[in-house]
Parts: sequence; structure tokens; C-alpha cells
Amino acid sequence: MSKSLKKICWSVTLFLILNPIISVLALVLYLVFSNSYHLSEVLWITLFGLVFAILTNLSITMGYHRLWSHKSFEAHPLLEKILLFISAGAFQGSALKWASDHRIHHRYEDTEKDPYSINKGFWHAHMGWMMKHETVSLPIHAPDLEKNKWVKNQHDYYGIWSIGVGYVFPMIVGAFLGNAFLGLVIAGGLRIFLTQQSTFLVNSLSHTLGNTPYSTELTAKDSIIVAILTHGEGYHNFHHTFQFDYRNGIKWYHWDPTKWSIQLAYVLGLAKKLKTVQFSEILKARLQTETEKFYNSKFYEEKLLPVKERIIQSQIRFEQLKSEYKTASRERVDIIKAEMELTRIELKMNMKKWSVLIKAAPQLASI
Ligand SMILES: [Zn+2]
Ligand SMILES: [Zn+2]
Repeated sequence: MSKSLKKICWSVTLFLILNPIISVLALVLYLVFSNSYHLSEVLWITLFGLVFAILTNLSITMGYHRLWSHKSFEAHPLLEKILLFISAGAFQGSALKWASDHRIHHRYEDTEKDPYSINKGFWHAHMGWMMKHETVSLPIHAPDLEKNKWVKNQHDYYGIWSIGVGYVFPMIVGAFLGNAFLGLVIAGGLRIFLTQQSTFLVNSLSHTLGNTPYSTELTAKDSIIVAILTHGEGYHNFHHTFQFDYRNGIKWYHWDPTKWSIQLAYVLGLAKKLKTVQFSEILKARLQTETEKFYNSKFYEEKLLPVKERIIQSQIRFEQLKSEYKTASRERVDIIKAEMELTRIELKMNMKKWSVLIKAAPQLASI
């Protein structure tokens, strides 16, 4: 075998290529040539496949990514087991391996050591890295996760877990809905393909398409389009800047179903200790990014910098008052409320000044 062929990880490569081809072919041939199915079975099984696809994606984004890779919240053992069970059927490797690789991606983003570095091309970041031993077979280093009995079990018996959940389970549900074969092909093979592509886009498209509001040093980008395609993982510039925050889309209306699912789990008592970054830190990163191209100008020193400092100070003060308010005595409550209102007005005024200055900066900073 030639050297380049030896570099290929054939088991993963063949699975990634053959699973969608065989699934599509089997489905088309069956629908065209078989007369042993009813249209209602196709519809019900497709509906189940779609729901299962959404749950599979959420188990990866909520479980593999935000829970095990970043520990951005703590999950109840029941939720942990549900997430481990469903995610096994995604055919994206065990939670332990996935999280270990992902931590390397964050630690060495865009460098030679980043297993799915976008600097090696879109295809490499999307799927190519899984087809090479060099990048897909990195040693596992996640001692905290190895101590987790269920995570370890899913890793040690991944073959049984993945085939069981990924193919056998949808086949059984399909049988209950009237057609085991369609269950296997639609909610098994095709669903696996769809959910894999959604996750792969996080490594490729969200390092390619979008804005960089929190850090221009990273290739990770924020994009609503990618967020829609990836269950909320498209606010990737924010995520790479503040990786321990359980949210990726920080505003309540940002499209982040993974964040909403974690919030729902919290309400149901299935998640606790949701980690968030202080808003003053987020604001600081945003203002810094907006001004970095004007750093060496007089305009920055004299106009932008003082307003920037006032905004951040007001925000920090506001956050302090907010936490004081929670434990304040009755007599102090009204004083704190008034101070909060004043700080909010100050913040608003300075933000208005800031937007005027930022608009004028390209002309005035060059004088
Ligand atoms: Zn991450
Ligand atoms: Zn990334």
C-alpha cells in the first residue's frame, strides 16, 4: 500500500461515504419497486426520523459539547444518561473521544495542533480530518471524564451503543409504526447523515462565514445562518472567546435551541450551576474589537478610550448593585434601586456617545 493510502483511516472514511449512499439507494429502490408499504407508514416514520434527528443533534450540542467538553453546567444523572444514550446513535465517536478532541481544538485553535484547523482548508475542517489517522486518532486526554462511569462505559462499548441506538432502535420504532426497514433507512442511516453534517458545519462553516465581534484573532465567526443549521452553535466567535458560558447566543432571541434546552432542563431540575460570563467582560471584548484598528490614533486616546472606560465601569457598577440588591436590607433596597437607575441612564448615554464616535472614527482617526 502506498504511503498516502496508509494515512487514511479506512473504517471512518468508508462509513462516512457509504452510509448516505447505501441509505439513499435502499430507500429509493424500496419506494419504487416494493409494494409492501403504505404511504402513512412513510410519513409517520419520516416524522419520527425528524424528531430523532433533532434530539440527536441536541444530545451532541448539549451533551458532547457544552456539558462534557466545556462543563458549562452540571447535569442530573438522569439527563446525563439520556444524553449519552441518544448521542451514541449520532456516530460521531464516544463522548470521551469527542470532548478530548474538542478541547484540543480550543486550546490550539488554527494552529498545526488543532485537529480540525480551518487553515488546512474547508474540506479538512468539515470531514477530511476524520479520514486521516494523524488527526482522527489523537490520544485521549480528559482525566475528569474518564472518572465518569457512564461516559467511560459508552466509550468502552461504543460499538454496541452506537449500532444499538443508531440502527437497531429506529428499526424497532419503525416496526411499531408498521415498517422496520423504513425505520432502519430513514430514522437510522439518513438521520445519521443529516445530524453528522449539522455538527460538521460547526467546524467548517462557523470558522468561515460571519462576523468577529469578540475577537479578530480567531477564525471562529458568529453567524445566524450557521446557528440555524447547527442548533445554535453558529455564534462561534463568542463561544471561542468565552468557551465556558453555557450559551452561544447570548441575547434571549439569538437562535440557540441548545441554550433553551439547557434552560428548560434547569427549570425541570435536571441541570444546575449554569455558567455565564459577566456581561461587563462580554462588553469589554466587544468594545475592544470595535476599536482595535484605531489603537494608534490620537482620536482613540482622546475620545474613544475615555468613553470606553466609562461604559465598562458603569456596567461593572450595575452588576455589583444588582447582586447587592438580592441580599439588601429593606432600608437599603430603595437606595440601591435609585443607584441602579442612575447607572443605567449613564450607561445608556455613554453607549449613544459610543455609537456616534465609532461611526465617525474611520475619518477622524486618520487625521
Ligand atoms: Zn467548544
Ligand atoms: Zn471551533
